[in-house]
Amino acid sequence: MAKHQFQTEINQLLKLMIHSLYSNKEIFLRELVSNASDALDKLNHVTLTDPAYKEVVFAPRIDITFDKKKKTLTIADSGIGMNQEDLVEHLGTIAKSGTKAFLENLSGDAKKDSKLIGQFGVGFYASFMVAKKVEVISKKAATDEAYMWSSAGEGDYEITPAKRDSHGTTITLYLKKEEEEFLESYKLERIIEKYSNHIPFPIYMEKEHYKAAEKEGDEPTTEVKIEQVNKASALWTLSKNDLKDEDYKDFYKSIAHDSSEPITWMHHKAEGSLEYTTLFYVPSRAPMDLYRVDYTPGVKLYINRVFITDDDKELLPTYLRFLKGVIDSADLPLNVSREILQNNAILEKIKKNSVKKVLSELAKLAKKDAEKYAQFYKEFGRVLKEGLYNDFENREKIIELLQFKTLNHTDAVDIESVTKALEADKKEIYYITGTDEQVLRNSPILEQFKAKNIDVLIMSDEIDTIVFPMVTSYKEYTFVHVNEAKLDSSDEEQKAQEESQKAYESILKELGNVLGDSVKAVKTTSRLKESPACVVEDKDDPSYTMYKMMKQMGQGMGGEAPKPILEINPNHPLIQKLHDSRDQNSIEDIAHLLLDQAFLADGRELANPAAFIARLNRVMTKAL
Ligand code: ADP
Repeated sequence: MAKHQFQTEINQLLKLMIHSLYSNKEIFLRELVSNASDALDKLNHVTLTDPAYKEVVFAPRIDITFDKKKKTLTIADSGIGMNQEDLVEHLGTIAKSGTKAFLENLSGDAKKDSKLIGQFGVGFYASFMVAKKVEVISKKAATDEAYMWSSAGEGDYEITPAKRDSHGTTITLYLKKEEEEFLESYKLERIIEKYSNHIPFPIYMEKEHYKAAEKEGDEPTTEVKIEQVNKASALWTLSKNDLKDEDYKDFYKSIAHDSSEPITWMHHKAEGSLEYTTLFYVPSRAPMDLYRVDYTPGVKLYINRVFITDDDKELLPTYLRFLKGVIDSADLPLNVSREILQNNAILEKIKKNSVKKVLSELAKLAKKDAEKYAQFYKEFGRVLKEGLYNDFENREKIIELLQFKTLNHTDAVDIESVTKALEADKKEIYYITGTDEQVLRNSPILEQFKAKNIDVLIMSDEIDTIVFPMVTSYKEYTFVHVNEAKLDSSDEEQKAQEESQKAYESILKELGNVLGDSVKAVKTTSRLKESPACVVEDKDDPSYTMYKMMKQMGQGMGGEAPKPILEINPNHPLIQKLHDSRDQNSIEDIAHLLLDQAFLADGRELANPAAFIARLNRVMTKAL
């Protein structure tokens, strides 16, 4: 019997582990299963690559058994196993320099330390959270001797010769009294399903089945059967070539809890300096909570096929929150904690690359399958637009994914079509925002654009009003709100505009006097062709749509609507007649009717419809 002392750092680690480390102890099973899975992975690898293991049979399985009388839980694998030196080296010392350095710098403040420790792989030692004694019997593949490592987790461990039929490792936990819940098969099964469902090897467990009495008077019995309790298909790790569409769809259904089929999926393996696999699905329908702050994130993080979390909103930017799937990284420590995930450089890089990948795959879909893309855009286009203001780096790529309706196109087109249609030297893309496509199309503000045959983007999603003013440019093009458009390119037109402003000065003043506080100013304009008047907002004021949205959300912004500027068309017969006649009796009615009709054309509700009707009727009576 050989007694060994634990390395100092292991003692420290064990102390931390036993007193105060983890709040969810159940992860010990995840750690042991993950080690077993690694051992199977390793054996798999050497049997494939190392002639010394040529004779070894790779028959991967993990068996979980428990003995309620003895209060033991056993995890056995048919993996690579450990010889005597391995046991000392792996289960008696800490090899990882990072873990060592960390342990040397422990502050002694248990709370702080336990938060920090999450980032290191302390795997096997987690068993001491639930066990008062641990025995490891192991036989290394391609050798004949087996050894037992055993310890109560206090200062030392023993290694003795042992027996084991074939290669692999059996870990027996003598559970602490208060941890006996880990002897319930349903509990174990639930933990396995939660954390180890997709490891690539089968996990078998004894399950009790109730059997009714065969004859009257007999007692019912329970039958114990050994069954596989995990799916064991780490689908994302398989090669794309080995997977059929059906496989992808089935997997989607199990991870997304959605019985409809996904629109598309993106399966990507990154190799090189950073190794990870991502599998993202675009669902065919937006979930109910898509626009809620407390939405459920759809992407799960795995580290080497071991489930880490499905509740991390930082894995992808919020504007891609509609995606479902998996990120599996080979480069993250298994015990990574939530706090650490948030500023993890590796994860940041994976996130960044994933976003690029997703955006480019969506761009491909748009080119390849217009119908599917339209379905995607209908469900998630609005969410995607959120990226315009919170992902500056990818703004151009996001703009390229947008679908625009324009004055000239009632069917949506992409930005490329918009820029291609511009005249060679024109770099302005005009847009109008609001909430009703038809109102926008018929807006008087667009009359001059129609007259000059200049196309305008019709942006009628609510979010456009908030987001689009922030976009400002795309490549060499500038986005210009129609209100700020300066289309009077010819000197002639400009001169005419200045002259009309002068010639109409007195009428502008009179209108201003009548309308008083309800407008910010009254001006002549050259932007109107058919309508006599329109309203626009001052550049520095919030738009009316924005005001309405804020009001709906209960954020009144001082309660008052921004005051509009009333613009009148000096070439319209009505304005000309008004100017010439100087009919003082009607000026009041006409001023209000001009403003009210401008409001109506802008899609606004009138503050006082009754007054509008009374005025209209007075003017009509007079006209007859
Ligand atoms: P980690 O798994 O992060 O390396 P652990 O403390 O969990 O840290 O395990 C330490 C080492 O012990 C492992 O790297 C592995 O070499 C060895 N080991 C643990 N469990 C097994 C097992 N079931 N079969 C073979 N080797 C094992």
